[in-house]
Amino acid sequence: MSWENDQAVVTDIFYFVNIYSHGKLPSHCEQRFLPCEIGCVRYSLQDGIMADFHHFIDPEVPPRGFRYHCQAASDATHKIPVSGFHLSRTCYTVVLRELLEFAQPARGVWPHFYCRSNDRFRINWCLNRMASIESRLELLTVEDLLTKLYQKKYQKMPSKNWVYGELDVFLWNFSSNTRCKWHEENDILWCALASCKKIAYCISKSLASMYGVSLTAAHMPLQDCDYGESGNTKMVMLDAGCFQVRFFKLIPCVISSSLSVQTCQFQLSSLDTVFRNIHWAD
Ligand SMILES: [Zn+2]
Repeated sequence: MSWENDQAVVTDIFYFVNIYSHGKLPSHCEQRFLPCEIGCVRYSLQDGIMADFHHFIDPEVPPRGFRYHCQAASDATHKIPVSGFHLSRTCYTVVLRELLEFAQPARGVWPHFYCRSNDRFRINWCLNRMASIESRLELLTVEDLLTKLYQKKYQKMPSKNWVYGELDVFLWNFSSNTRCKWHEENDILWCALASCKKIAYCISKSLASMYGVSLTAAHMPLQDCDYGESGNTKMVMLDAGCFQVRFFKLIPCVISSSLSVQTCQFQLSSLDTVFRNIHWAD
């Protein structure tokens, strides 16, 4: 991917995609995932989110013996029922066809799809499963995209910490017009559409001003824009159910035996590290 100038960068169109699954099955299973929700947004730095695509997918039946595992994984994240969900109306082929219609090729060239690197294996697997054959979609990582956009502007590589830091934000977890209707109404955080929109918000926040683009409601929720300058973009969720206990991890770092009462100091491991180790929607 190469851009001639800044104008080419800001008008380039990217598609952010995510597919959620009812859990992740062991590697010996032919069926590694059961895709159940897909989200995708069309985005450019200049115009922000231009359109979005969302479906609940009619999943396959879990392999024998794995139904409980799949339901438990669902309950811990997106909470989409494994069976009998009234909104799962579309089968694999229909969803994929509609996704390809949504992402029209420009001048005969298929657009690039991007996802978070941690999600890439699952999404790629699901796309190929839905296509029955190798899907034609090229799936790239958002981390690489952010790196290249930064590099294009500043002629130098950003640090990996900066890249992951820019993308690991929780500020917009509960923003309006971010989750799909069902996840919003049920106040459930994990939504495939929301995860795509939050990537767009992060890219906007990181790069729009860098490229001289003014933020609009299409770039990020306007009511949350003020937070952008505070530097405090990480919001701890106190009601995150089963994940609460994982937020803080005590690690012994200094043990002094010179004191009469042995003291032991602890440090809090970074929330970033802890969050990164959680497989949100597997
Ligand atoms: Zn959703």
